[in-house]
Amino acid sequence: MRDFTNEDTINDLLEKTKNPSSRLAETIIQKSLKLKGIGPEEVAVLLNCEDGNVLNNVFSAARQIKESIYGNRLVLFAPLYLSNRCVNECLYCGFRRKSVKTNGRVLTVKEVRDEVNALIAQGHKRLLLVAAEDPTIDIDYLEKMIKTVYDTEVGHGSIKRVNINVAPMDVKDFTRLKNTGIGTYQVFQETYHRESYTTLHPSGPKSDFMKRLYACDLAQKAGIDDIGIGVLFGLYDYRFEVLALLFHVKHLENVFGVGPHTISVPRLEPAHGSSIASHPPYPVSDKEMKKIIAILRIAVPYTGIILSTRENATLRNELFHLGVSQISAGSKTVPGSYSGNTSAEGQFSISDNRSLAEVIEDLANMGFLPSFCTSCYRTGRTGENFMELAKPGEIKNFCQPNALLTFEEYLLDYNPKLAQEIKDFLSSEVHKIPDQKVREMTSKKLESIVQGKRDLYF
Ligand code: SAM
Ligand code: SF4
Repeated sequence: MRDFTNEDTINDLLEKTKNPSSRLAETIIQKSLKLKGIGPEEVAVLLNCEDGNVLNNVFSAARQIKESIYGNRLVLFAPLYLSNRCVNECLYCGFRRKSVKTNGRVLTVKEVRDEVNALIAQGHKRLLLVAAEDPTIDIDYLEKMIKTVYDTEVGHGSIKRVNINVAPMDVKDFTRLKNTGIGTYQVFQETYHRESYTTLHPSGPKSDFMKRLYACDLAQKAGIDDIGIGVLFGLYDYRFEVLALLFHVKHLENVFGVGPHTISVPRLEPAHGSSIASHPPYPVSDKEMKKIIAILRIAVPYTGIILSTRENATLRNELFHLGVSQISAGSKTVPGSYSGNTSAEGQFSISDNRSLAEVIEDLANMGFLPSFCTSCYRTGRTGENFMELAKPGEIKNFCQPNALLTFEEYLLDYNPKLAQEIKDFLSSEVHKIPDQKVREMTSKKLESIVQGKRDLYF
């Protein structure tokens, strides 16, 4: 195993591209509009750029690229925390071993069913299962919980896609995980800076930097071809981390022919029992968050970018315009809390406390199309098949109609008042579908949904 993030190369690139000229940055921005991505040196130039005018152009390019590839849809999901009992000592986390000594909790089948009932009742169709690392959270447990999630139904509603963010496992267990029917497997490196990683993860299985770095490779080997990677911003210099993320993308592309399905951009939030969480070693400002998201969108145009409720509502509304394609809404990080059955601590504080319905209303008012689409992985558009459509910008021909169909279903079943208020917006979105045949088929499917049909997609 080799550290493919190339620490020295990253430092050299950042040094070499210091104080870049606006002209050079503008050339790179123009190149990025061709939707082919940009290389590490070009990314380093943009990361080193502080000129406000140039940054505004980076932001508009990111917005344009996101629109060209995915259209104006934003996919919604909620995290479901299965546990808060952890054997690791990640110094930034509210679940670390020293913090959760007595009230550690692992949800039972019944408790998970209660949580899923509550989430379906809000209108959710996609969940991200999250768990701390503990011997009881093994593959047998995960299989049982994923089955419970998929089997739970409330009226017309059920969860159609389960993504998962849990500790890495071996290929044998990853194969079992794949067979449960999960969508994406997520694992964040937290920081790609080895020395910081070692200091921040003093004990437990997660203290092995290389094992974590190669977790996605093992998942890919087990056939999980939708992988999510990420950095916990605030632990080390964001410029270094963005370039390291890019090297991780390149590594996955070189070895498996396909890059990550998603990149997550969590930023440190206060967590109980952690002074690092409240005083990040490398604080990232709101302006820098905007820069990070826009540069990632430009650099890997075909990869989904996930933004969580760690960020507040005002900033999130701004960041949605810069290339984010998936968002959580109405989230809770305390196991058991959606069904009101909780006594435990959360992993970190949530800053966007809007309900799912409130987020959806705000999105529609800003001209975004909220989407609960789960069609890609159910029709086999995963891994390379997905990228073949995403890279030339063709995926939006599925995204746009599927967003409309799933949104209509949500409105009828969970938010009829909003359905009335945004009637005109919805019909203008149907008219925007460029292909006449797809437009007509979408209108027909929408009519069937009004007549009572459910779960229609392309
Ligand atoms: N325990 C598994 C692991 O660490 O990979 C599962 C994921 S953990 C519950 C989810 C993610 O939360 C971590 O990967 C980390 O990036 C993030 N996280 C931990 N502490 C945080 C904090 N104080 N603020 C924001 N995000 C945090
Ligand atoms: Fe455990 Fe994950 Fe928190 Fe680390 S980040 S203490 S592994 S839950």
